[in-house]
Amino acid sequence: MISLAEARERIFREVKALAPERVELALAHGRILREAVIAPEDFPGFDRAAMDGYAVMHEDLSGEFVVMGEAQPGARCGVRVGPGQCVRIFTGAVMPEGASQVIMQEDVERIGDRVVVRKRSSVLHVRRRGEDARAGALLLGVGVRLGAVQASLLAQVGMVDPLVAARPRVVHLVTGGELVPPAQVPGEGQIRDSNSTLVRGLVEGAGAEMAWQGHAPDELGQFLDRLRAPGEEGWDVLLISGGASVGDYDFGARALAELGFEMRFHGVNLRPGKPLAFATRGRQAAFLLPGNPVSHWVVFAVAVRLALERMQGVGADGEGDGEGWRIGGMLPLALGAALEGGADRRETFWPGRVVAGGGGLRVDPVAWRSSGDLCAIARANALIHLPPGALPLDAGAIVNCVLMEGGALPLD
Ligand code: AMP
Ligand code: MG
Repeated sequence: MISLAEARERIFREVKALAPERVELALAHGRILREAVIAPEDFPGFDRAAMDGYAVMHEDLSGEFVVMGEAQPGARCGVRVGPGQCVRIFTGAVMPEGASQVIMQEDVERIGDRVVVRKRSSVLHVRRRGEDARAGALLLGVGVRLGAVQASLLAQVGMVDPLVAARPRVVHLVTGGELVPPAQVPGEGQIRDSNSTLVRGLVEGAGAEMAWQGHAPDELGQFLDRLRAPGEEGWDVLLISGGASVGDYDFGARALAELGFEMRFHGVNLRPGKPLAFATRGRQAAFLLPGNPVSHWVVFAVAVRLALERMQGVGADGEGDGEGWRIGGMLPLALGAALEGGADRRETFWPGRVVAGGGGLRVDPVAWRSSGDLCAIARANALIHLPPGALPLDAGAIVNCVLMEGGALPLD
């Protein structure tokens, strides 16, 4: 059995980045950028009014100005503003030549073709050319995940077909004679398959695509038949739920060997998730995930996700090294309650709930009955990292947390 650090090291070493691709900007949301975004010109590209009002020379402290014309957004007003003169202007319009300040319309009284200044502020109310970014400035680096704001920045600079990481294609097989589809009422001894839904969500949340999902009973022949259903090629990662252990009906390792996969590790000193296995076949990766939902959630976060990130180019240019938790960084937080426990030699990830309160963030441990307790992890939004032998811990102790879905923070 190896340590989690060693397991992550092997995943990082064996899994290679997929070739990046260009996509339409409308499809780029959620993708990882594989080229830098450099400002092609100054932003803003021209001096713009930041308020509705009257454009004047800022050094002209006259109490009254003659209105010489009007400047609307989208067109240049031909008027040159001189002493004692102003131009009626609206937010976003090009500043007329000569003008360097907008007096807010609330601060003047308009009388015919003149304005009388009631109050003069020293604020210019002008967005100066290049004040956001100069031409040539680095706006987004390689490896940034494109959220709504980052994608809209691409729109601003006209990058309509950005180079982004390809989405790894995942195939997923759940195993077990006890499973029925969620729409079916379970018979005696049966349970509904919740892992297919869980894994689909985790895969999509990691920027990958679920290409195929299936179910096999605990019988090697049928297991292999189902595994061959999505074809040999056309996918990058195979996930097998259940059958990861060494029981009589745990066919995962045998099935992978039959398919020509080479086992890279089987068994990690990890709780939950000890039977986790990782294998490769050429550029394809496979994981055996212990069937319990909590184990699934944890091993996905600490191991499978790394492979999917690596395929999306994380670490390709020296960023991240597999030791860092680059996406969904570790955050030190105070424990909201004591954590009991003996001298456990296994590295543990304990479901936690990060909450704001008492002037800061803290993490409350979530009580879970077993690694099958999906009801408990439905309340969790983080994993508390406990190195071997860390327990017991008092309330207030500082623990490292992996923020989960919806709460991922970038490291630097
Ligand atoms: P296994 O790893 O196959 O021994 O499964 C461990 C536990 O997880 C057993 O209690 C299974 O019934 C349960 N389990 C396995 N697969 C699923 C699934 N797809 N949905 C819900 N529970 C599952
Ligand atoms: Mg099973």
